[in-house]
Amino acid sequence: MSGLSENFRLPVTCPSCGSHLMRVSQVKNPDDKVFCASCSRFVCLYHEACTILRQGPGSESEALIEQAVNRGDH
Ligand SMILES: [Zn+2]
Repeated sequence: MSGLSENFRLPVTCPSCGSHLMRVSQVKNPDDKVFCASCSRFVCLYHEACTILRQGPGSESEALIEQAVNRGDH
């Protein structure tokens, strides 16, 4: 078994380091947390990442990330 998570690209960047590369569990449940692959910061939930992937880059996707980040993962 090699790794329980996999990386994928988001059209919006990590608010901490500006990376597009995110990490999520291979199970990919809608409520799984998505972390920045570079700095490991919580970015959003997987279903939110799916919405962003569908929407593509833009102000709506950026607003969604901002809301998720501010909500936090605690
Ligand atoms: Zn980051």
